[in-house]
Amino acid sequence: MKVVKSICPFCGVGCGVELFAEGQFISRISPLQEHVLSRGHLCGKGTLSHEPQYSWDRLIYPLKRVRDDFYRISWEEAITEIYLKLKEVISRYGPGAVAFYGGCQNTLEEVYSMQKLARALGTNNVDSCARVCHEPSALSLKEMVGIGASSISASKIPEMRVVVIAGESLTESHPVLSQYLTQAKINGTKLVVVDPRVTGTSKLSDLHLRLRPGTDVALYNSVGNYLIQHGLFDQQFVEERTSGFDDYSRGVSKYTLEYAERVTGLNRDQIVKFAELIAGKGVIFSWGLGLTQTSGARGVMSYVDLALLTGNVGEAGGVLVFRGQTNVQGSGDLAKPNVFPIGDMTEENAEKLKEVWGFKPPVEPGLTVTQALLRDSKVRAVVLLGFNPAFSMPNRRAVERRLMELDLLVVLDPFMTQTAKFAHYVLPTAVWSEKEGSVSDLDRLVKWRFKAVDPPGEAKGDLEVLAMLGEKFNVKLDADPERVFREMRSVTPIYSGLELDKVKDYSSNSRYPNGEISLYGQGFKTRDGRARFKFYDQGEVKGGLVLITVRNVTRYNTDVWTGRMPGYGGYESSILLNPSDAKGRGIADGDTVKVKSECGEQVFKVRVSQEVTPGTAVTYFHDGKVNYVVCDELDDLSFTPKYKFTSIEVEKVERN
Ligand code: SF4
Repeated sequence: MKVVKSICPFCGVGCGVELFAEGQFISRISPLQEHVLSRGHLCGKGTLSHEPQYSWDRLIYPLKRVRDDFYRISWEEAITEIYLKLKEVISRYGPGAVAFYGGCQNTLEEVYSMQKLARALGTNNVDSCARVCHEPSALSLKEMVGIGASSISASKIPEMRVVVIAGESLTESHPVLSQYLTQAKINGTKLVVVDPRVTGTSKLSDLHLRLRPGTDVALYNSVGNYLIQHGLFDQQFVEERTSGFDDYSRGVSKYTLEYAERVTGLNRDQIVKFAELIAGKGVIFSWGLGLTQTSGARGVMSYVDLALLTGNVGEAGGVLVFRGQTNVQGSGDLAKPNVFPIGDMTEENAEKLKEVWGFKPPVEPGLTVTQALLRDSKVRAVVLLGFNPAFSMPNRRAVERRLMELDLLVVLDPFMTQTAKFAHYVLPTAVWSEKEGSVSDLDRLVKWRFKAVDPPGEAKGDLEVLAMLGEKFNVKLDADPERVFREMRSVTPIYSGLELDKVKDYSSNSRYPNGEISLYGQGFKTRDGRARFKFYDQGEVKGGLVLITVRNVTRYNTDVWTGRMPGYGGYESSILLNPSDAKGRGIADGDTVKVKSECGEQVFKVRVSQEVTPGTAVTYFHDGKVNYVVCDELDDLSFTPKYKFTSIEVEKVERN
């Protein structure tokens, strides 16, 4: 029996696990006591995260599509044919017609190698599925405080006077972090939850703000105005450590409580209570997709303004981003179409990269995955690493059409996903426990996964596949994860302080950039060392019924994994309606309804529940059919889809 340490392959907590392997078989998983964030806890999903890799339908050899069927081919044939087709697309349309997009289960080394190969081919069309979730957070924090990541560790939650959680339910989406909420409640920490629905987390709150979806900016601007008008902000912090306050103060001055009441659906007492609770030190401002996928970067910035206004970014408090996948933080850090891993997309940085890479990357920004698959038809060849956009992206029908039009679609994945079915080539890859590499969690903690067993059949690690493809183009890519880690670290300033032995030691505080649990105690990582206030106005407020999509604790993202775990995913979700919305439409609990938007329609069973606010409909996104209804409106700053902001109509088709 071999015991191997690793990191759970699911959410952004990145819990430490011990894998018990007998030969080539992992028989069980236990929580790793010494992990500095998970501290010996695992949720149910983590405990069974080894099950899917033994599923009967694992891909075990490369496949090529011929008309509607897939046929087995050798690796040499697959890589040679993909190389020739990529070359053909480049010679016909130019390198800008090629794109490489990754999922967020890939390791830092895989993401780094993927973007390097793309840039060697002459394109900046590189991105990851971080685009569709937390790019508004990364972009806003980078601009306002200097690093696009949490400034504080979730482990600090119990030490706070107040914790605000916006658009997130820890108990459903990041269950192991609930240990810190429980401890915080014992310590007397006040909990404020901003969420239209009742969740496991909101039930623990002292104040639950059930705002109308997409009205975050109105709420946070009005709170900012109230704090300024009543002298409840941290004047010393604002004067000494920030810039842009005058513009911000002028901007929010029109956000009265009356306006906020009208727009958000909250009452003034709730808004005032919120403002008074956050006035003073010792506050964490945290958030999830309920903020980023409705109000986008404008929502995040107006929220982070409150953290600056109250002097809570630094030792006294912080901003905490609840990331959804194990390496979504790292994927977003390394693969962006408009930023190099080394920093801004400038000639100077391109020259610096040439010294390490031996080639100069192009300097024109590329396309995000949302632009390439939903807005722009310039891209003709796409290589996807563990990414399933045919399921996970909004306006699914449009994405499917786009994938079908491509001259070349290559999918690297352990399973025949909904996206792989559209591919010309499907390359079988190793899962997390069958390879090595590092991941970066929501706490900025970078940890190493060790290999427990070999991949089945002819499946290979993504690094090896990228290296094989690189070789055809005469691009030297290393398949050894430790050597790639060292190169990635030498190229990427925010990761330059990482030490491999600490990354491999689960009890070690290997947070980037330099092991700080709380960032910005001294200065911000902006050019002038000051944090920047950003003011934006409230955007469109939608009337009627607005659909929001949420997570279920027993399922994970596209259900490719949890659908293969006994007792977990693979079932159809209902849609939740408030009793007033149901009654007004003659709908009763258990009825079947047709849900229609501008993008499509689907049939759901209804659950009538006070858990959702009037005017809001809620369903889980894990069975994917809802993405045929969710529209592809993109945040104009981050190009992140507004998944939780689709106007719908609901009509009964069958009585219970
Ligand atoms: Fe895995 Fe997240 Fe559960 Fe931890 S909380 S075991 S990382 S799914």
